[in-house]
Amino acid sequence: MGKVDVCIIAEEIAYGLPALIPFLEIAQLYTYVIKLGGTEEQKKRFLTRLAGGEIGCYALTDEGPGSDPVSMKSTASQKDSEFVINGKKRLITFADMADLFALFAREDSGDKSISCFIVEKDTPGLKFDKHCQLSGLRGHRAYDLKLENLHVPLENRIGSRGDGLRLALQVLNNTRISLAFGYVGLSRAALDAAIKHAKTRVIAGNTISKNQGISFPIAEIATEIDAARLLAYRAAVLSEREANHRKHTSMAKMFAGEVLIKAVTLANRVLGGYGSDMEWTVERYVRDAFAWIAAQGTPEVQKLIISREVIGK
Ligand SMILES: Cc1cc2nc3c(=O)[nH]c(=O)nc-3n(C[C@H](O)[C@H](O)[C@H](O)COP(=O)(O)OP(=O)(O)OC[C@H]3O[C@@H](n4cnc5c(N)ncnc54)[C@H](O)[C@@H]3O)c2cc1C
Repeated sequence: MGKVDVCIIAEEIAYGLPALIPFLEIAQLYTYVIKLGGTEEQKKRFLTRLAGGEIGCYALTDEGPGSDPVSMKSTASQKDSEFVINGKKRLITFADMADLFALFAREDSGDKSISCFIVEKDTPGLKFDKHCQLSGLRGHRAYDLKLENLHVPLENRIGSRGDGLRLALQVLNNTRISLAFGYVGLSRAALDAAIKHAKTRVIAGNTISKNQGISFPIAEIATEIDAARLLAYRAAVLSEREANHRKHTSMAKMFAGEVLIKAVTLANRVLGGYGSDMEWTVERYVRDAFAWIAAQGTPEVQKLIISREVIGK
């Protein structure tokens, strides 16, 4: 499938249940690591296994701030014919069911020292520290990991020493596009719920949709959702053409994320007390949106990328 196809699917899955999106997202995150950074031999070893039903995951976020991977503390020391990896990873989606981990660690000090390694699930020392309990995306699973003297063969490093950070950012630059489409899908679901309620809820003889205090915010969000989708399409098309799309991707992810928070907030308010009623879906939309917004880089991190692109460093 092309990028646009994947994005259309992401939007529709998220409309129904965003907790299912990681099945698409995590597969892409792992795959892009090998696709963009691996040798032909590594592609054969680590990609073909996915076609056989195995699962890969992406372990970048460290115990330090996820927004600043440069400050990563996990280390990889070369000892004879292997690397020995130690550290901690946070919020790693599907770590419990993954067969292969694209795992990032620092080879020595300095910004350019982060490398990426493929780690097999049964490697001794790869331990689950905690199942992260998120308020939203309840069907999605993320874990904190402890890395205690993981022995990883030299040939499992993807790229050269210090290529990891560039690779991690290149991967995210591709996967953030479908995430933006996911945000559009959930925004649409929230908007539809708000419209349905506004058209049926009668107060003082009129449906509340007749009030401009309700209908104008709906009109604004409907417009912003379309704008977010168009931004995301632009990034997807540029990605398919293999053109530079860093700014476009971050614009789409940032804008779609902001629209999502506005859309679920609007739905919550239009529904009044039902907006927080556990028997109605809108309260889930709110929880899912807030749990989802930081994944693959917060809106502020996208603004950092956009400002560097438009202003320069
Ligand atoms: C559902 C979910 C799934 C995830 N799955 C994975 C996964 O599979 N693999 C993985 O590696 N990680 C995963 N993550 C982690 C995710 O990438 C991080 O949560 C994210 O990068 C933010 O890092 P943080 O949580 O440490 O926040 P922090 O980096 O501590 O940020 C805290 C706040 O500071 C703000 N901030 C940071 N820098 C600046 C700045 N320069 N200017 C202004 N504000 C700033 C941020 O925007 C944020 O609001 C997942 C997260 C979630 C929520």
